[in-house]
Amino acid sequence: MLKNTFGKKKYFTLKVENDRKQQVVKEEEDMLGSTICPGCSTTISELELLRNHKVCPDCRHHFNLSVMERLNLTVDDGTFQELDSGLSSYNILNFPGYDEKLSQAEKNSGFKEAIITGKASIGGCPIILGIMDTRFMMGSMGSVVGEKVSRAFEAAINLKCPVIMFTASGGARMQEGILSLMQMAKTSAVLEKFNRCGLLYISVLTHPTTGGVSASFASLADIIIGEPGALVGFAGPRVIEQTIKQRLPEGFQQSEFLLKHGMVDMVVDRTQLRETLVRLLRLHQGGVNG
Ligand SMILES: [Zn+2]
Repeated sequence: MLKNTFGKKKYFTLKVENDRKQQVVKEEEDMLGSTICPGCSTTISELELLRNHKVCPDCRHHFNLSVMERLNLTVDDGTFQELDSGLSSYNILNFPGYDEKLSQAEKNSGFKEAIITGKASIGGCPIILGIMDTRFMMGSMGSVVGEKVSRAFEAAINLKCPVIMFTASGGARMQEGILSLMQMAKTSAVLEKFNRCGLLYISVLTHPTTGGVSASFASLADIIIGEPGALVGFAGPRVIEQTIKQRLPEGFQQSEFLLKHGMVDMVVDRTQLRETLVRLLRLHQGGVNG
């Protein structure tokens, strides 16, 4: 009899707690609102989306992540230390409107350039990491992006640790003319030096990785991972269609297409990405806990 009473009480308390939890979830959901998935037009609550690594639970559409979201999902808590945060671009060619664009981009992204680089660890493995942000002038590569990428690889050579780059870019930064194009050669050269040290470089191609970034450090990794559905290529599909005057095949320039044609090694769902990176890093270290 007593046992039953206690049992009921316990159940009652649990039920109240669950009701409270549901209430909190409902309030959080109301606060964050909802969004429509561009992949399948389903309405998804922002909270559900955040919990699912910003991947649509219905069609697996991968929403773009901010630098902070990417960091939170990727590195071990509290391990990220930014490198070269003070570097910012300078309008060396006096290109009209470039100064205004730079300050607008800084406001949009909260960063001084289209890439942040730093030291961190993933699954306990120390790495050097770079994350590009398309909210900063479409992630275009100017002199500072090239310099930060180069310094990241130099830092990894000194520390003898792997590099992981999350790329997202519209290409070269036209406001910096030839100086922007030079960054392809510069980043490729430092990568050759890095490569000769026998260190591991993994690039994760996120939507979209195009132009000079795809034609340099994004494609020169030991292991190239594509996020599902990411557009990866040099020129955009519309430009190619207009040039060759032919219709392009279905899914052309998407990660899955590139995997089929040998340009990408793996396509990994974002919910599995951290786990995959940890496994690759540990395997490279010769660890047994992968
Ligand atoms: Zn969807």
